[in-house]
Amino acid sequence: MVGTVAIDAVKTPFGKRDRVFGGSASYFSYAASFFVPVALIAVVGRDFPEEYRMILTERPIDLSHLEEADGKTFFWRGEYGSDLNSAQTLETQLNVLTRFDPKLKFTQSPPYLFLANVDPILQMRVLDQLERPRLKFVACDTMNYWIRTKRQELQKVLTRVDGLVVNDGEARELTQEANLMKAARRIHEMGPGCVIIKKGEHGSLLFYENQFCVLPAYPLEAVFDPTGAGDSFAGAVMGYLAQTGDLSFDNMKRAVARGTVTASFTVEDFGLENLRRLSGAEINERLEILKKIGTF
Ligand code: AMP
Repeated sequence: MVGTVAIDAVKTPFGKRDRVFGGSASYFSYAASFFVPVALIAVVGRDFPEEYRMILTERPIDLSHLEEADGKTFFWRGEYGSDLNSAQTLETQLNVLTRFDPKLKFTQSPPYLFLANVDPILQMRVLDQLERPRLKFVACDTMNYWIRTKRQELQKVLTRVDGLVVNDGEARELTQEANLMKAARRIHEMGPGCVIIKKGEHGSLLFYENQFCVLPAYPLEAVFDPTGAGDSFAGAVMGYLAQTGDLSFDNMKRAVARGTVTASFTVEDFGLENLRRLSGAEINERLEILKKIGTF
């Protein structure tokens, strides 16, 4: 997977952290690692704290493609108001990300690839170095920042991936369609056959193989910091697909359920704190509850 390893500053109605370890790659790979080992492709600056790197080593995450470059680490400042479903970006400093040109050293192309939320030019650079037919399933994420600043490049990426995982606001902004059913159809036309639209506390929609389904979110009374929910969701979805090797619609539903549950743990604390404490057994416990409340 490729994405950002970041230093974030986050404010939610429940607290504020001026420096917290984040980034789309960090959350994604942490979540995916509960299902399969994952290789992380990203760049950090000279200011990147050793203690953050150690957090990544707590899980089966291969860091041989985590480069350190001259300059400062990607920095994001965001804030959530009473609507915890969408962050307001107050500051984005790309820093070392602007010059990142990874040279992949895999002896064999991996079968699953996720292009997490990052510059679409970088997503393309990674995709260019990995070959089909060895690649079985490639999916990507994006956000309003890239939809606004790199729309053309993003559309090129979309012609080359099998799946897109975005939230409802991003799906609407990307397609200019207010209706999510129509938005999913437009995204299919742009390339991806599998479209997953996340709706925060309202669950998610899966469109795949001419079928679709609706999954609830795991109900929580205390959401502390939603940052990273989307990346953790995608990490668990991709991790489960890679673990099972099954790309059928039914298995995709099971993957989305894993994404839902894993993200529910992320939002219960700042940064990666709750994922660091998480066990596979706890994921399974919540999966059983999700199954019960979503079936009739
Ligand atoms: P999410 O799962 O959408 O809440 O992702 C939150 C993470 O995305 C934060 O830890 C940020 O560091 C990271 N992020 C914020 N803006 C961007 C951006 N423009 N490109 C890549 N990553 C970003």
